[in-house]
Amino acid sequence: MKPIGITTTVPIELLSAAGYKAIDLNNVFINDPSPDRLVSIAERSGFPLNCCTWIKGIYGVCIDRGIDTVLCVTTGDCSNTIMLMEVLKLRGFRVIPFAYPDQPDTRRMQECLETLAKNLGTNLEDAEKVRRDLAPCRQLTGELDELTWEENLVSGWENHLWLISSSDFNGDHRQYRLQLEQFLSQCRQRQPYGDGLRLAYIGVPPVFAQDLYRFLEQQGATVVFNEVQRQFAMPKPGGSLAEQYSNYTYPYSIFNRLDDITTEIQQRRVDGVIHYVQAFCHRAIGDIIFRRMINIPILTLEGNSAYVLTPHLQTKVEAFIDMLSRSRQLLEQGR
Ligand code: SF4
Repeated sequence: MKPIGITTTVPIELLSAAGYKAIDLNNVFINDPSPDRLVSIAERSGFPLNCCTWIKGIYGVCIDRGIDTVLCVTTGDCSNTIMLMEVLKLRGFRVIPFAYPDQPDTRRMQECLETLAKNLGTNLEDAEKVRRDLAPCRQLTGELDELTWEENLVSGWENHLWLISSSDFNGDHRQYRLQLEQFLSQCRQRQPYGDGLRLAYIGVPPVFAQDLYRFLEQQGATVVFNEVQRQFAMPKPGGSLAEQYSNYTYPYSIFNRLDDITTEIQQRRVDGVIHYVQAFCHRAIGDIIFRRMINIPILTLEGNSAYVLTPHLQTKVEAFIDMLSRSRQLLEQGR
């Protein structure tokens, strides 16, 4: 299968049906031993210092790995991707645009999928067959999530890793399924984690993920809800591709995301929310809405190009956890 870079979660069923192997460029970037090196490739090509690190990292991966075809999402993800796409074209890449509809409407989604299928030289019937092949993987991600928040058998970091990898199933869904089955059976043998603070993580994935989750766990808190990562796994697959990608909340209005977030916060008995924002990202403005609409404590953390949790951010996290612990103690004493 021919490799194709993807800039965010897209209908990979269509890519597979067209004979492509999707590679999530974000995951390649952040798992590189030296992500700075990839960012500097972009900066040497003229990407400004005040451009989001993820965009620069994606560009760096395209150049560094020689991926010559890239599917760029032009509506429903990131306004910077449009200009990234133009620069990639200038550099001789084959660029395929894909636009999510501006609302989660199944009929309009169907039209967008048909346009993409035509551009890729495939059809929706073949893509539906791939959807059926991927269904066991998606079901396993649902089980992983339940073991995280219901059983306390999977850590927030493990949950993050598996769910975020579902954008491309690490390039091999059969292997992904096998490895996840093994992982879940090991987790079922574990003793549940203690009764620590329960957190939700909302927003785009962080550039310092491993450090953040590890630090939270050291402070006695665990993430029981990874919002966007869970969406990447398509928790509501519906009855067709059009329904699946209409139920996927990330490309649409923040209020669609809020419905999902508030429902899960309540169901998962979350004590506090970490809202991650990326420097120079338009999505950071959504913090205004989250703070108004979510009625439990929120900590907003901004990341830029440091791939570790800086001492300054550690202090913010510690203070937040401390505040949540005190609130919980007071609540318990009052009972
Ligand atoms: S973090 Fe924001 S600016 Fe950066 S790629 Fe994602 S959506 Fe775009």
